[in-house]
Amino acid sequence: MEIKQESDYAYSFWEGRLLLDQEVQRFRALHFPQQSENEWNEIIHQWRGKNWLSVFPAIVLREGRWKCLRCGADQEFIFFTPCGRCERDSCASCKHCLLLGRARSCRYLYQFVRVGRDRVQIPRDVNAPSIQLTAKQLTAVQELSTYVRQKMPSVLFWAVTGAGKTETMIPVIEPLIRQGKSVLWCTPRQDVVKELAPRLKRFFPDGIVSEHYAGSPDKWMLSPLVIATAHQTIRMAHLFDLVIVDEADAFPLEGNPALEYSIQRSKRTGGTIVLLTATPTDLWIYRMRKGILPTVLLPCRFHGKLMPCPIWKRERALWAQIKSHKMNRTVQRIISEITSTDGQALWFVPRIEDTRVVGEWLKRQFLCDEGQVDFVSSTDENRTGKIMRFRDGNILHLVTTTILERGITVPKCNAVVLGADHSVYDRASLVQIAGRVGRSLQYQAGKVWFISNHKTEPICQAIREIQLLNREACKEFGG
Ligand SMILES: [Zn+2]
Ligand SMILES: [Zn+2]
Repeated sequence: MEIKQESDYAYSFWEGRLLLDQEVQRFRALHFPQQSENEWNEIIHQWRGKNWLSVFPAIVLREGRWKCLRCGADQEFIFFTPCGRCERDSCASCKHCLLLGRARSCRYLYQFVRVGRDRVQIPRDVNAPSIQLTAKQLTAVQELSTYVRQKMPSVLFWAVTGAGKTETMIPVIEPLIRQGKSVLWCTPRQDVVKELAPRLKRFFPDGIVSEHYAGSPDKWMLSPLVIATAHQTIRMAHLFDLVIVDEADAFPLEGNPALEYSIQRSKRTGGTIVLLTATPTDLWIYRMRKGILPTVLLPCRFHGKLMPCPIWKRERALWAQIKSHKMNRTVQRIISEITSTDGQALWFVPRIEDTRVVGEWLKRQFLCDEGQVDFVSSTDENRTGKIMRFRDGNILHLVTTTILERGITVPKCNAVVLGADHSVYDRASLVQIAGRVGRSLQYQAGKVWFISNHKTEPICQAIREIQLLNREACKEFGG
Protein backbone atom coordinates (compact mmCIF):
# COMPACT_ATOMS: atom_id res chain seq x y z
CA MET A 1 0.00 0.00 0.00
CA GLU A 2 2.75 2.31 0.99
CA ILE A 3 4.68 1.83 -2.19
CA LYS A 4 1.51 2.38 -4.19
CA GLN A 5 0.82 5.82 -2.77
CA GLU A 6 4.42 6.78 -3.13
CA SER A 7 4.44 5.68 -6.73
CA ASP A 8 1.30 7.71 -7.48
CA TYR A 9 2.98 10.75 -6.04
CA ALA A 10 6.20 10.07 -7.95
CA TYR A 11 4.28 9.72 -11.17
CA SER A 12 3.55 13.44 -11.30
CA PHE A 13 7.27 13.96 -11.99
CA TRP A 14 7.14 11.68 -15.01
CA GLU A 15 3.84 12.62 -16.59
CA GLY A 16 3.97 13.75 -20.19
CA ARG A 17 7.56 12.69 -20.77
CA LEU A 18 8.87 10.63 -23.62
CA LEU A 19 12.29 9.37 -22.61
CA LEU A 20 14.89 6.91 -23.81
CA ASP A 21 15.75 4.22 -21.27
CA GLN A 22 19.13 5.85 -20.58
CA GLU A 23 17.36 9.17 -19.90
CA VAL A 24 14.95 7.43 -17.52
CA GLN A 25 17.94 6.12 -15.56
CA ARG A 26 19.51 9.58 -15.39
CA PHE A 27 16.25 11.14 -14.28
CA ARG A 28 15.79 8.44 -11.63
CA ALA A 29 19.30 8.94 -10.27
CA LEU A 30 18.65 12.67 -10.05
CA HIS A 31 15.20 12.67 -8.42
CA PHE A 32 14.90 9.28 -6.70
CA PRO A 33 18.46 8.40 -5.64
CA GLN A 34 17.42 6.19 -2.73
CA GLN A 35 15.17 3.92 -4.79
CA SER A 36 16.42 0.35 -5.23
CA GLU A 37 16.25 -1.55 -8.49
CA ASN A 38 13.52 -3.85 -7.08
CA GLU A 39 11.38 -0.93 -5.95
CA TRP A 40 11.74 0.70 -9.31
CA ASN A 41 10.74 -2.46 -11.18
CA GLU A 42 7.71 -2.83 -8.91
CA ILE A 43 6.67 0.78 -9.60
CA ILE A 44 7.13 0.36 -13.35
CA HIS A 45 5.02 -2.79 -13.19
CA GLN A 46 2.21 -0.89 -11.43
CA TRP A 47 2.28 1.99 -13.88
CA ARG A 48 2.22 -0.30 -16.90
CA GLY A 49 -0.72 -2.14 -15.32
CA LYS A 50 -2.66 1.12 -15.12
CA ASN A 51 -1.79 2.00 -18.71
CA TRP A 52 0.09 5.05 -17.49
CA LEU A 53 3.27 3.89 -19.09
CA SER A 54 3.98 2.30 -22.41
CA VAL A 55 7.39 1.04 -23.47
CA PHE A 56 8.36 0.48 -27.09
CA PRO A 57 11.51 0.42 -29.29
CA ALA A 58 12.85 3.86 -30.27
CA ILE A 59 13.37 2.96 -33.92
CA VAL A 60 11.13 0.59 -35.82
CA LEU A 61 10.69 -0.86 -39.29
CA ARG A 62 7.16 -0.25 -40.54
CA GLU A 63 5.96 -1.30 -43.94
CA GLY A 64 9.52 -1.53 -45.16
CA ARG A 65 10.59 1.94 -43.93
CA TRP A 66 12.58 2.82 -40.83
CA LYS A 67 11.14 5.43 -38.52
CA CYS A 68 12.33 7.06 -35.29
CA LEU A 69 9.40 7.07 -32.87
CA ARG A 70 11.24 9.46 -30.61
CA CYS A 71 11.46 12.43 -32.99
CA GLY A 72 9.35 11.30 -35.92
CA ALA A 73 12.26 11.34 -38.38
CA ASP A 74 11.88 9.21 -41.46
CA GLN A 75 14.15 6.69 -43.22
CA GLU A 76 16.48 9.40 -44.58
CA PHE A 77 17.71 10.19 -41.05
CA ILE A 78 18.32 6.57 -40.04
CA PHE A 79 21.85 5.18 -40.27
CA PHE A 80 23.31 1.81 -39.36
CA THR A 81 26.38 1.07 -37.26
CA PRO A 82 27.79 -1.91 -35.34
CA CYS A 83 26.34 -1.82 -31.83
CA GLY A 84 28.01 -2.85 -28.57
CA ARG A 85 24.66 -3.05 -26.85
CA CYS A 86 22.76 -5.50 -29.02
CA GLU A 87 25.99 -6.85 -30.58
CA ARG A 88 24.57 -6.63 -34.09
CA ASP A 89 26.68 -5.45 -37.01
CA SER A 90 24.06 -3.08 -38.16
CA CYS A 91 21.88 -1.45 -35.52
CA ALA A 92 19.68 1.46 -36.59
CA SER A 93 20.30 4.92 -35.04
CA CYS A 94 18.64 8.28 -35.67
CA LYS A 95 20.67 11.22 -36.92
CA HIS A 96 17.89 13.75 -36.44
CA CYS A 97 17.66 13.56 -32.64
CA LEU A 98 21.30 12.53 -32.07
CA LEU A 99 22.12 15.80 -30.29
CA LEU A 100 19.70 14.78 -27.53
CA GLY A 101 21.32 11.36 -27.03
CA ARG A 102 21.35 8.39 -29.36
CA ALA A 103 18.10 6.60 -30.16
CA ARG A 104 18.72 3.01 -31.37
CA SER A 105 16.51 0.20 -32.53
CA CYS A 106 17.71 -1.80 -29.50
CA ARG A 107 16.84 0.95 -27.00
CA TYR A 108 13.43 1.57 -25.51
CA LEU A 109 11.28 4.65 -25.28
CA TYR A 110 9.21 5.24 -22.17
CA GLN A 111 6.03 7.16 -22.76
CA PHE A 112 4.56 8.42 -19.48
CA VAL A 113 0.95 9.27 -20.24
CA ARG A 114 -0.52 12.42 -18.80
CA VAL A 115 -3.21 11.35 -16.33
CA GLY A 116 -4.10 14.81 -15.07
CA ARG A 117 -2.42 17.11 -12.65
CA ASP A 118 -4.25 18.21 -9.55
CA ARG A 119 -5.52 21.70 -9.87
CA VAL A 120 -2.90 23.97 -8.47
CA GLN A 121 -3.88 26.99 -6.49
CA ILE A 122 -1.47 29.68 -7.51
CA PRO A 123 -1.50 32.69 -5.23
CA ARG A 124 -1.46 36.01 -7.02
CA ASP A 125 2.04 37.31 -6.81
CA VAL A 126 1.73 40.73 -5.20
CA ASN A 127 5.08 41.76 -6.62
CA ALA A 128 4.22 40.74 -10.17
CA PRO A 129 3.98 43.72 -12.48
CA SER A 130 0.47 44.39 -13.72
CA ILE A 131 0.03 44.35 -17.45
CA GLN A 132 -1.45 47.37 -19.13
CA LEU A 133 -2.93 46.27 -22.42
CA THR A 134 -4.32 48.43 -25.21
CA ALA A 135 -7.89 47.93 -26.40
CA LYS A 136 -6.65 46.00 -29.42
CA GLN A 137 -4.42 43.73 -27.34
CA LEU A 138 -7.40 43.03 -25.05
CA THR A 139 -9.52 42.07 -28.05
CA ALA A 140 -6.75 39.69 -29.16
CA VAL A 141 -6.67 38.15 -25.64
CA GLN A 142 -10.42 37.55 -25.78
CA GLU A 143 -10.32 36.02 -29.25
CA LEU A 144 -7.39 33.75 -28.40
CA SER A 145 -8.95 32.64 -25.10
CA THR A 146 -12.19 31.80 -26.89
CA TYR A 147 -10.36 29.63 -29.42
CA VAL A 148 -8.52 27.84 -26.59
CA ARG A 149 -11.82 27.24 -24.77
CA GLN A 150 -13.35 25.90 -27.97
CA LYS A 151 -10.41 23.46 -28.22
CA MET A 152 -9.47 24.75 -31.69
CA PRO A 153 -6.51 22.57 -32.82
CA SER A 154 -4.52 25.45 -34.34
CA VAL A 155 -4.82 29.22 -34.43
CA LEU A 156 -2.67 31.79 -36.20
CA PHE A 157 -1.78 34.80 -34.08
CA TRP A 158 -0.49 37.36 -36.57
CA ALA A 159 1.03 40.20 -34.56
CA VAL A 160 3.19 42.83 -36.26
CA THR A 161 6.70 43.31 -34.89
CA GLY A 162 6.54 45.51 -31.81
CA ALA A 163 2.87 44.67 -31.13
CA GLY A 164 3.64 43.41 -27.60
CA LYS A 165 2.85 39.76 -28.37
CA THR A 166 4.47 38.41 -25.19
CA GLU A 167 2.45 40.71 -22.93
CA THR A 168 -0.68 39.85 -24.90
CA MET A 169 -0.16 36.11 -24.39
CA ILE A 170 0.20 36.36 -20.59
CA PRO A 171 -3.55 36.89 -19.81
CA VAL A 172 -4.27 33.95 -22.14
CA ILE A 173 -1.82 31.69 -20.29
CA GLU A 174 -2.52 32.74 -16.70
CA PRO A 175 -6.07 31.35 -16.25
CA LEU A 176 -4.97 28.03 -17.76
CA ILE A 177 -2.13 27.71 -15.25
CA ARG A 178 -4.57 28.54 -12.45
CA GLN A 179 -6.82 25.71 -13.63
CA GLY A 180 -3.92 23.25 -13.35
CA LYS A 181 -3.31 23.10 -17.09
CA SER A 182 0.04 22.91 -18.84
CA VAL A 183 1.40 25.44 -21.31
CA LEU A 184 4.40 25.19 -23.61
CA TRP A 185 6.08 28.22 -25.13
CA CYS A 186 8.24 26.86 -27.89
CA THR A 187 10.82 28.99 -29.72
CA PRO A 188 13.22 28.33 -32.56
CA ARG A 189 16.43 29.28 -30.77
CA GLN A 190 18.13 28.96 -27.40
CA ASP A 191 18.83 32.70 -27.10
CA VAL A 192 15.09 33.38 -27.40
CA VAL A 193 14.40 31.00 -24.47
CA LYS A 194 17.04 32.76 -22.37
CA GLU A 195 15.63 36.17 -23.22
CA LEU A 196 11.99 35.22 -22.74
CA ALA A 197 12.21 33.19 -19.51
CA PRO A 198 13.16 36.08 -17.17
CA ARG A 199 10.43 38.22 -18.72
CA LEU A 200 7.77 35.56 -18.09
CA LYS A 201 9.13 34.74 -14.63
CA ARG A 202 8.34 38.30 -13.54
CA PHE A 203 4.65 37.57 -14.05
CA PHE A 204 4.43 34.17 -12.34
CA PRO A 205 5.40 32.88 -8.87
CA ASP A 206 8.50 30.72 -8.40
CA GLY A 207 8.36 27.20 -9.78
CA ILE A 208 5.78 27.96 -12.48
CA VAL A 209 8.20 28.69 -15.31
CA SER A 210 10.99 26.34 -16.41
CA GLU A 211 13.54 26.72 -19.22
CA HIS A 212 14.45 23.86 -21.52
CA TYR A 213 17.39 23.96 -23.90
CA ALA A 214 20.58 21.96 -24.33
CA GLY A 215 22.40 22.24 -20.99
CA SER A 216 19.74 24.22 -19.12
CA PRO A 217 19.51 23.43 -15.38
CA ASP A 218 15.70 23.07 -15.53
CA LYS A 219 15.83 20.53 -18.34
CA TRP A 220 14.43 17.67 -16.27
CA MET A 221 11.69 19.68 -14.57
CA LEU A 222 8.35 20.00 -16.28
CA SER A 223 6.66 22.98 -14.61
CA PRO A 224 3.15 24.26 -15.53
CA LEU A 225 4.68 26.76 -17.98
CA VAL A 226 7.55 25.31 -20.00
CA ILE A 227 9.70 27.47 -22.26
CA ALA A 228 11.64 25.26 -24.63
CA THR A 229 13.53 25.16 -27.86
CA ALA A 230 11.74 23.19 -30.54
CA HIS A 231 14.26 20.34 -30.24
CA GLN A 232 13.47 19.78 -26.56
CA THR A 233 9.83 18.98 -27.42
CA ILE A 234 11.18 15.60 -28.53
CA ARG A 235 11.13 14.70 -24.80
CA MET A 236 7.51 15.77 -24.17
CA ALA A 237 4.42 14.04 -25.52
CA HIS A 238 0.64 14.53 -25.26
CA LEU A 239 1.14 16.90 -22.36
CA PHE A 240 0.19 20.49 -23.07
CA ASP A 241 -3.23 22.13 -23.21
CA LEU A 242 -1.76 25.15 -24.99
CA VAL A 243 1.33 25.17 -27.21
CA ILE A 244 2.59 28.56 -28.35
CA VAL A 245 4.98 28.34 -31.28
CA ASP A 246 6.91 31.59 -31.28
CA GLU A 247 8.41 32.83 -34.56
CA ALA A 248 6.72 29.86 -36.10
CA ASP A 249 7.85 30.85 -39.60
CA ALA A 250 11.56 31.01 -38.68
CA PHE A 251 14.39 28.53 -38.98
CA PRO A 252 14.54 25.71 -37.86
CA LEU A 253 10.78 25.27 -37.57
CA GLU A 254 9.74 26.23 -41.08
CA GLY A 255 9.88 23.29 -43.43
CA ASN A 256 11.11 20.75 -40.84
CA PRO A 257 8.49 17.98 -40.72
CA ALA A 258 10.20 16.09 -37.87
CA LEU A 259 10.21 19.12 -35.57
CA GLU A 260 6.68 19.93 -36.58
CA TYR A 261 5.78 16.35 -35.65
CA SER A 262 7.23 16.57 -32.15
CA ILE A 263 5.67 19.98 -31.52
CA GLN A 264 2.28 18.64 -32.63
CA ARG A 265 2.77 15.56 -30.45
CA SER A 266 3.58 17.67 -27.36
CA LYS A 267 -0.05 18.88 -27.38
CA ARG A 268 -2.66 16.72 -25.69
CA THR A 269 -5.94 15.85 -27.36
CA GLY A 270 -8.23 18.87 -27.17
CA GLY A 271 -5.31 21.25 -26.78
CA THR A 272 -4.58 24.26 -28.96
CA ILE A 273 -1.49 25.28 -30.91
CA VAL A 274 -1.04 29.04 -31.37
CA LEU A 275 1.25 29.89 -34.27
CA LEU A 276 2.73 33.21 -33.24
CA THR A 277 4.37 35.25 -35.98
CA ALA A 278 4.85 38.68 -37.51
CA THR A 279 5.32 37.17 -40.96
CA PRO A 280 3.06 34.19 -41.69
CA THR A 281 4.08 31.82 -44.47
CA ASP A 282 2.24 31.86 -47.81
CA LEU A 283 0.53 28.61 -46.85
CA TRP A 284 -0.89 30.02 -43.62
CA ILE A 285 -2.10 33.19 -45.38
CA TYR A 286 -3.77 30.98 -47.97
CA ARG A 287 -5.39 28.85 -45.27
CA MET A 288 -6.43 31.97 -43.38
CA ARG A 289 -8.10 33.42 -46.50
CA LYS A 290 -9.87 30.12 -47.13
CA GLY A 291 -11.18 30.22 -43.57
CA ILE A 292 -9.46 26.95 -42.65
CA LEU A 293 -7.02 28.52 -40.18
CA PRO A 294 -8.66 30.70 -37.51
CA THR A 295 -6.64 33.90 -37.20
CA VAL A 296 -6.25 36.61 -34.60
CA LEU A 297 -4.73 39.78 -36.02
CA LEU A 298 -2.85 42.41 -34.04
CA PRO A 299 -2.00 44.91 -36.76
CA CYS A 300 -0.52 47.83 -34.84
CA ARG A 301 2.30 48.45 -32.42
CA PHE A 302 1.75 48.43 -28.65
CA HIS A 303 1.93 52.25 -28.72
CA GLY A 304 -0.85 52.39 -31.29
CA LYS A 305 1.28 53.65 -34.21
CA LEU A 306 1.40 52.03 -37.60
CA MET A 307 4.28 50.16 -39.27
CA PRO A 308 6.32 52.50 -41.49
CA CYS A 309 5.62 51.76 -45.14
CA PRO A 310 8.83 51.07 -47.10
CA ILE A 311 9.91 53.52 -49.81
CA TRP A 312 11.26 51.84 -52.94
CA LYS A 313 13.95 53.64 -55.00
CA ARG A 314 15.37 52.41 -58.29
CA GLU A 315 19.16 52.74 -58.45
CA ARG A 316 20.74 51.19 -61.51
CA ALA A 317 24.31 52.30 -60.92
CA LEU A 318 24.54 51.86 -57.14
CA TRP A 319 26.89 48.85 -56.97
CA ALA A 320 29.13 50.29 -59.72
CA GLN A 321 29.33 53.54 -57.74
CA ILE A 322 30.18 51.67 -54.57
CA LYS A 323 32.94 49.70 -56.33
CA SER A 324 34.44 52.76 -57.98
CA HIS A 325 34.24 54.81 -54.77
CA LYS A 326 31.76 57.27 -56.23
CA MET A 327 28.97 58.88 -54.35
CA ASN A 328 25.24 58.26 -54.81
CA ARG A 329 22.64 61.00 -54.46
CA THR A 330 19.84 58.82 -53.08
CA VAL A 331 22.10 57.45 -50.35
CA GLN A 332 23.30 60.98 -49.62
CA ARG A 333 19.71 62.21 -49.22
CA ILE A 334 18.85 59.26 -46.97
CA ILE A 335 21.83 59.96 -44.73
CA SER A 336 21.02 63.65 -44.40
CA GLU A 337 17.41 62.80 -43.59
CA ILE A 338 18.49 60.35 -40.87
CA THR A 339 21.02 62.86 -39.49
CA SER A 340 18.43 65.66 -39.42
CA THR A 341 16.16 63.54 -37.18
CA ASP A 342 19.09 62.51 -34.98
CA GLY A 343 18.46 58.89 -35.97
CA GLN A 344 20.41 55.67 -36.48
CA ALA A 345 20.25 53.17 -39.31
CA LEU A 346 20.68 49.51 -40.09
CA TRP A 347 22.00 49.05 -43.64
CA PHE A 348 21.17 45.61 -45.02
CA VAL A 349 23.32 44.12 -47.77
CA PRO A 350 22.86 40.73 -49.45
CA ARG A 351 26.26 39.08 -48.89
CA ILE A 352 28.75 38.92 -46.02
CA GLU A 353 31.54 40.34 -48.22
CA ASP A 354 29.35 43.37 -49.01
CA THR A 355 29.29 44.47 -45.36
CA ARG A 356 32.92 45.63 -45.40
CA VAL A 357 32.73 47.14 -48.92
CA VAL A 358 29.59 49.13 -48.16
CA GLY A 359 30.76 50.04 -44.64
CA GLU A 360 33.99 51.52 -45.99
CA TRP A 361 32.19 53.25 -48.86
CA LEU A 362 29.75 54.92 -46.45
CA LYS A 363 32.65 55.97 -44.24
CA ARG A 364 34.67 57.45 -47.07
CA GLN A 365 31.84 59.17 -48.92
CA PHE A 366 29.49 60.39 -46.25
CA LEU A 367 30.31 59.66 -42.64
CA CYS A 368 33.95 60.36 -41.97
CA ASP A 369 33.66 61.02 -38.22
CA GLU A 370 35.11 58.33 -35.99
CA GLY A 371 32.64 55.69 -34.81
CA GLN A 372 29.77 56.68 -37.06
CA VAL A 373 29.81 53.55 -39.23
CA ASP A 374 30.67 49.92 -38.59
CA PHE A 375 29.79 46.61 -40.18
CA VAL A 376 28.90 43.20 -38.80
CA SER A 377 28.12 39.72 -40.11
CA SER A 378 27.63 36.20 -38.82
CA THR A 379 31.38 35.51 -39.23
CA ASP A 380 32.42 38.54 -37.16
CA GLU A 381 34.04 37.67 -33.82
CA ASN A 382 33.17 41.08 -32.36
CA ARG A 383 29.56 40.75 -33.42
CA THR A 384 28.00 40.99 -29.94
CA GLY A 385 30.15 43.98 -29.00
CA LYS A 386 29.29 45.86 -32.18
CA ILE A 387 25.58 45.21 -31.78
CA MET A 388 25.81 46.47 -28.18
CA ARG A 389 27.56 49.65 -29.32
CA PHE A 390 24.87 50.19 -31.95
CA ARG A 391 22.17 49.64 -29.32
CA ASP A 392 23.85 52.18 -27.04
CA GLY A 393 24.05 54.72 -29.86
CA ASN A 394 27.85 54.64 -30.05
CA ILE A 395 27.64 53.43 -33.63
CA LEU A 396 25.10 55.39 -35.69
CA HIS A 397 25.11 53.35 -38.90
CA LEU A 398 25.57 49.58 -38.87
CA VAL A 399 25.97 47.63 -42.10
CA THR A 400 24.76 44.06 -41.74
CA THR A 401 23.36 40.99 -43.47
CA THR A 402 19.99 39.40 -42.75
CA ILE A 403 21.34 38.12 -39.38
CA LEU A 404 19.87 41.26 -37.82
CA GLU A 405 16.52 41.11 -39.61
CA ARG A 406 14.87 39.69 -36.47
CA GLY A 407 15.17 40.45 -32.81
CA ILE A 408 17.09 43.72 -32.66
CA THR A 409 15.24 46.68 -31.17
CA VAL A 410 16.86 50.12 -31.23
CA PRO A 411 14.70 53.17 -30.45
CA LYS A 412 15.92 55.60 -33.14
CA CYS A 413 16.19 53.05 -35.93
CA ASN A 414 15.88 53.55 -39.69
CA ALA A 415 16.44 50.72 -42.19
CA VAL A 416 17.97 50.76 -45.65
CA VAL A 417 18.15 47.66 -47.84
CA LEU A 418 20.78 47.98 -50.57
CA GLY A 419 20.13 45.48 -53.32
CA ALA A 420 16.63 44.67 -52.12
CA ASP A 421 16.04 42.71 -55.34
CA HIS A 422 18.61 40.05 -54.31
CA SER A 423 17.24 36.53 -53.83
CA VAL A 424 18.20 36.45 -50.11
CA TYR A 425 15.27 38.75 -49.44
CA ASP A 426 11.84 37.18 -49.49
CA ARG A 427 8.61 38.83 -48.43
CA ALA A 428 9.02 37.76 -44.80
CA SER A 429 12.58 39.05 -44.44
CA LEU A 430 11.70 42.43 -45.97
CA VAL A 431 8.71 42.77 -43.61
CA GLN A 432 10.93 41.78 -40.66
CA ILE A 433 13.49 44.43 -41.69
CA ALA A 434 10.77 47.09 -41.90
CA GLY A 435 9.67 45.89 -38.48
CA ARG A 436 12.93 47.18 -36.93
CA VAL A 437 11.65 50.74 -37.44
CA GLY A 438 9.14 52.80 -35.43
CA ARG A 439 9.28 50.59 -32.32
CA SER A 440 9.58 53.53 -29.94
CA LEU A 441 6.82 56.09 -29.50
CA GLN A 442 9.47 58.77 -28.90
CA TYR A 443 11.02 58.34 -32.35
CA GLN A 444 8.42 58.04 -35.10
CA ALA A 445 10.60 59.69 -37.76
CA GLY A 446 12.18 56.37 -38.76
CA LYS A 447 11.86 55.30 -42.38
CA VAL A 448 12.46 52.17 -44.41
CA TRP A 449 14.07 52.32 -47.85
CA PHE A 450 14.36 49.46 -50.34
CA ILE A 451 16.96 50.31 -53.00
CA SER A 452 17.40 48.11 -56.05
CA ASN A 453 17.61 47.87 -59.79
CA HIS A 454 14.42 45.80 -60.11
CA LYS A 455 11.16 45.93 -58.23
CA THR A 456 10.83 42.23 -57.48
CA GLU A 457 7.74 40.32 -56.39
CA PRO A 458 8.93 40.03 -52.75
CA ILE A 459 9.41 43.85 -52.62
CA CYS A 460 5.86 44.39 -53.93
CA GLN A 461 4.44 41.72 -51.58
CA ALA A 462 6.20 43.18 -48.53
CA ILE A 463 4.92 46.70 -49.29
CA ARG A 464 1.40 45.39 -49.97
CA GLU A 465 1.41 43.36 -46.75
CA ILE A 466 2.41 46.37 -44.62
CA GLN A 467 -0.22 48.53 -46.34
CA LEU A 468 -2.83 45.86 -45.65
CA LEU A 469 -1.88 45.60 -41.96
CA ASN A 470 -1.99 49.39 -41.67
CA ARG A 471 -5.43 49.49 -43.28
CA GLU A 472 -6.62 46.83 -40.81
CA ALA A 473 -5.18 48.85 -37.93
CA CYS A 474 -6.97 52.03 -39.13
CA LYS A 475 -10.21 50.14 -39.62
CA GLU A 476 -10.16 49.05 -36.03
CA PHE A 477 -9.44 52.59 -34.93
CA GLY A 478 -12.79 53.38 -36.55
CA GLY A 479 -11.00 55.65 -39.00
ZN1 LIG B 1 21.92 -2.02 -30.95
ZN1 LIG C 1 15.09 10.50 -33.93
